[in-house]
Amino acid sequence: MKKLLKQIMYGAGQYARDNLSRWMKQGINPLCFADVDPQKFHTFIEGLEILPLDEALRLYPDAKICITVAQQNVKEIYNYLLNRGVGGVIDFPDDVFIGKSCSRLQSNYVNFFTDSLSACCMVLRPKISCSDNLRKDLISLNQLCKKIRDKLNTGEGTSCDGCPEIRDDIWLDSPTYHFDFATGFKGDLCNFRCSYCTYQQTLVKKLNVDISVLEIIEQLSDIIADTADVTICFANGETTINKDFDKTIEIILNRNWKLILDTNATVLPVNIERFANNILWILSSVDAGTAETFYKIKGVNCYDRVVKKLNSYHKLGVKCILKYILLPEINDNEDDILGFAELANSINASVIITSDSAKRHTRLSNRAIEVAKQLFSSCTEHGLRVMYSNDCFNEKDYALLKYEGGY
Ligand code: SF4
Repeated sequence: MKKLLKQIMYGAGQYARDNLSRWMKQGINPLCFADVDPQKFHTFIEGLEILPLDEALRLYPDAKICITVAQQNVKEIYNYLLNRGVGGVIDFPDDVFIGKSCSRLQSNYVNFFTDSLSACCMVLRPKISCSDNLRKDLISLNQLCKKIRDKLNTGEGTSCDGCPEIRDDIWLDSPTYHFDFATGFKGDLCNFRCSYCTYQQTLVKKLNVDISVLEIIEQLSDIIADTADVTICFANGETTINKDFDKTIEIILNRNWKLILDTNATVLPVNIERFANNILWILSSVDAGTAETFYKIKGVNCYDRVVKKLNSYHKLGVKCILKYILLPEINDNEDDILGFAELANSINASVIITSDSAKRHTRLSNRAIEVAKQLFSSCTEHGLRVMYSNDCFNEKDYALLKYEGGY
């Protein structure tokens, strides 16, 4: 446990609010917050006043400055404080690693596959084979990630070499566990037939998997400490129609874990009101803005139903993220782009634009690039948050799209 006394907490945003009580339990003793945003000055977080940095330093000249911003802002704030001449007193509330790494190597991120655990879903991913001891496997994966990270920094070869996610940064050690189910386990189902989906074949083949997601979650519930911050991501078919869904949700509620739900939004779980607050977001790949195209892609005629269910999630206060997978000559037309942007706007959704995972990393045509940009601007015109996902785009296309307005 870290014992840091006399701290000025620099960064009075959501990340600080979310973590303050945990840091204080760990022995951190904050004097006040400091921030650059004048609108926050002389307001309070949990009784701690937010001050301009100069005022905080004047009041507490012997204090250390503890950077309390989220990962993506750490380096910028660190450099800002160095430029302000306070380098010698900068600290962090959690352990940090400085050097080459990626967000997955730095976190307790676990992808469950049927025969292995993996730190991410990239082709190069670090993974270990499953034994019959999940606790031991989780530790082994964590050790493998640390070993890879160390080798990246000493120039030794690793399975991650060449991955675009690697960068030099200041990495916050996060105590959050993220367990991701993105493949077919016993009892998984889907009620769609998306033209680009390889998952359906996995389900149809009925892989020799003798464990269900519920059984894994039960094991995790026995292994993971009460104090841990846990997020479960369900991307294993249409999880809301799995017969174990209610039982799985009960465990998540009992443990007060967070949930990310990848859903096609055909079904609103009957007990949704009980766990809506535990959902960080739902992710729904809608890929169309008209009922006709939706049917062409999904093989199921239920666009209006999906729109209705998405609205229900939105009314319950659940954050919605809608995905648009670019499919040449299917959804690359104005009607779909405008219809999709309107749908996203009606539920204030964030939008992810990506390409077909079956053709992962192949170059897009000029037409597809134009469509991606048009979709991007149609959504941003509504004031929506939009991003291009780098999972499937070719590296050059991704760089071009990002350069021309994405992030
Ligand atoms: S393959 Fe890439 S994203 Fe995955 S752990 Fe390695 S560096 Fe990180």
